[in-house]
Amino acid sequence: MILQLPLSEAKLIERIRRSSRSGRAVALGIGDDCAVLCVSARHEVLVTTDLSIEGTHFRRDWHPARSVGHRCLTRGLSDIAAMGGEPRAAFLSLALPGELEQEWVDEFLAGLQALARRFKVVLAGGDVAQAPLIAADIVVTGEVPAGTALLRSGARPGDSICVSGEVGRSAAVLQALRGGQKISAGDREARAHFFPEPRIEVGRYLRRHKLATAAIDISDGLSTDLAHICEASSVGAVLHEHSIPRSVWPAESGYQSSALHLALHGGDDYELLFTARPAAKIPARIGNTNVRRIGEIINDRARRIFLMDSHGQRKPLTPGGWQHFA
Ligand SMILES: [Mg+2]
Repeated sequence: MILQLPLSEAKLIERIRRSSRSGRAVALGIGDDCAVLCVSARHEVLVTTDLSIEGTHFRRDWHPARSVGHRCLTRGLSDIAAMGGEPRAAFLSLALPGELEQEWVDEFLAGLQALARRFKVVLAGGDVAQAPLIAADIVVTGEVPAGTALLRSGARPGDSICVSGEVGRSAAVLQALRGGQKISAGDREARAHFFPEPRIEVGRYLRRHKLATAAIDISDGLSTDLAHICEASSVGAVLHEHSIPRSVWPAESGYQSSALHLALHGGDDYELLFTARPAAKIPARIGNTNVRRIGEIINDRARRIFLMDSHGQRKPLTPGGWQHFA
């Protein structure tokens, strides 16, 4: 099929190829039927794939193309971080409407490649097709020494529950956007939404120091992602309401959801949620990211999650509740 794209497919692929550097993880990059990755017997390869679809994960009138490209790669890098992995190569499949300006595509790639360079990720392949909506499917590969990947399944009763950074800010920005507020992607306070930081360094530290018994990145929301750990580990959890590092922005009142609600159920935070043995020494800071203890794992066959207030009262917490672009 001949694609009707702002730039011909061959030209676009050539442009992407030229903007990609080589790296030792990639023996053969863009230009053949497959990329060839270098893997040693002592290492395991991590592979994750994430879709970013216009109207579902971003809106062209809210998100500049540079932010869409950054967020697209962050989704994949954050999954590598959650396993304690070193990111290596990425593959990007793009669906683009015929009437889309080339400038949008260039800005998208600039946002994606700037983040890729910072984490030494090589864009090693992909595909382009025409579609009525913009869709970007990113595959990110990474590696860990064999047997050291952080999994969701290792949490045990008594383990501490910890989180990096703060949660709820991205959802708070989204709530403000939905409320009609104009927010610039360059606003420092809104950075967690437009240019979220994948916590590669935190995951690496936890893996190297064997600190985490289980880990996940917060993409769906703290409550939902904690439920994934509880499910995989067959345990329950208690969260301490006052310990959750929630966003205090935006200060304006009148929004439907409280900071606590957004911290518990808002998604797109890309912080790491992990568990650790009670005696483990968890630093208060890893790299330039704060780490907080926010609860503990309990023995509960029903894998329930409870929220405990400052008086020690527990109430059941139902995961979920935030619909992104619905
Ligand atoms: Mg994930």
